[in-house]
Amino acid sequence: MESLHFWLIHSFGMIQMTKYIFITGGVVSSLGKGIAAASIAKLLESRGIRVTNVKCDPYINVDPGTMNPFQHGEVYVTDDGAETDLDLGHYERYTCASYSRLNNITTGSIYRSVIEKERRGEYLGSTVQVIPHITDEIKKRITAVNESGDYQVVIVEIGGTVGDIEGLPFLEAIRQMKQDVGSLNSINIHLTLIPYLTSSDEIKTKPTQHSVQKLREIGIQPDILLCRTEKPLDKDCKKKISLFCNVSPDAVIQAINASSIYEVPLLLQEEWIDELIVRMLNLKSTSKRLVDWEEKVVSRIKNPLQQTTIAFVGKYITLQDAYKSVYESLTHAGIENHCKVHIRKVDSETVTPGSVESLLEGVQGVLVPGGFGERGIEGKIQAIQYAREKKIPFLGLCLGMQLAVIEFARNVCGMKNANSTEFNDKTKYPVICILETQKKVTEKGGTMRLGAYPCVLKNGTNSYKAYRKSLIHERHRHRYEFNNRYRKQFEEHGLVFSGTSPSHTLIEIVEIKNHPWFVGVQFHPEFRSKPDHTHPLFRDFIRAALNLKK
Ligand code: GLN
Repeated sequence: MESLHFWLIHSFGMIQMTKYIFITGGVVSSLGKGIAAASIAKLLESRGIRVTNVKCDPYINVDPGTMNPFQHGEVYVTDDGAETDLDLGHYERYTCASYSRLNNITTGSIYRSVIEKERRGEYLGSTVQVIPHITDEIKKRITAVNESGDYQVVIVEIGGTVGDIEGLPFLEAIRQMKQDVGSLNSINIHLTLIPYLTSSDEIKTKPTQHSVQKLREIGIQPDILLCRTEKPLDKDCKKKISLFCNVSPDAVIQAINASSIYEVPLLLQEEWIDELIVRMLNLKSTSKRLVDWEEKVVSRIKNPLQQTTIAFVGKYITLQDAYKSVYESLTHAGIENHCKVHIRKVDSETVTPGSVESLLEGVQGVLVPGGFGERGIEGKIQAIQYAREKKIPFLGLCLGMQLAVIEFARNVCGMKNANSTEFNDKTKYPVICILETQKKVTEKGGTMRLGAYPCVLKNGTNSYKAYRKSLIHERHRHRYEFNNRYRKQFEEHGLVFSGTSPSHTLIEIVEIKNHPWFVGVQFHPEFRSKPDHTHPLFRDFIRAALNLKK
């Protein structure tokens, strides 16, 4: 176990311990622990430190793949096909590290492996308990993230809020880890809220004091307090927090509301958080400001040269987190095209032949994201028909691509009531059907076609023009596919299969001839877009929208 904590600095020929940063949250949920963790990773990375992140989720689901978006928000898919928490999306967007199923730990997955071990007899003779068996398993999983020794620092974010019953084993595990590795090799950062009361024009520190007390009751003393606030914290306020929470005054960091999540690393840098962490963990580093990030990302978000409006037709549009990566990818495409992308969220259940015109009037692009189940399907098909006929740029993601095929079948190929067998298994024209490999699958968790797969592109198509290469890898999460039985009929009517699996058996991308830009992809490009590396399909989709405007 102990050896796992070590990594080799080859160049200096000495052995160093992996350093850990544990991030907890207090007072209320949704304070942005994920953004904070990603921003800290970004700042350390910019100083030449190799960093990775882990998210611990205290729920009992083995992974979030079986939860609906109202419960959990987006399910983020990694290259290795893990269905993970959306915070991994933030980590990937802010850093260069690569993330896999190792980087998301849930109570469900911990219990599952402990129970499997118990059945195998690995604890023979013992009563299996939360401490030490569950906590040992958590520690083992956290250290496993850096088994390769590639990283100097592992940032561990504990989901939920201090005081939640479910989170206790994780907090106990990180308390023990600090004992195991020592305080020069680990620090605790507590993200908390400093509310502002308009009536008395005051900011209040009491909730933070209580939250820190709660942490200290279970043996965790925060080293840094990251204070979410809408008003700047003055010296006296920081001093008060410092005194009551037993944290040094320079470790009381203001995390003021930002206009864009990509500004957070810059604001934290102004508070010298990276300097503080480097000092506390005794890390060797260069000191570099985030100049590129400021110029090429944040400043472009703040000073767009033009604007465009995209209709986003989905069924979970009231929930900001449900399509997190897609919204972010549109922001990235705006950054790359020097424009502000306004997203007009359209509830797919409200789109009908009568309402489509007024709902989509004036947009320069239509996007239909992924999804499951029949609700809202017909509205999305209406919106796609509108985009196709009015020659408005269209991007369909996963389900969005499948529905574009259905729309084309019904309205161009004359296949009346064509459908996906996901929604109607009696349809006369099952143009989308279950994947061959899915036919025998009975369990729901982690059994879709998941993760990165290769795809070859056809020369001369919009997809090829976007990627500028013929072999790409993109992440999938689906059970249904284009039905090859209909290939010829579709091609004859002008649908272009611009991307297929290398053996040409699976259709991965469809396009339409004689349309400015109409692309539907069976995969999820949104999982690969970064603010400083916009995904080529999102970039070109927004470029087409801007061209339409001209
Ligand atoms: N429901 C469709 C399928 O399973 C699409 C999935 C998705 O959009 N992620 O194939």
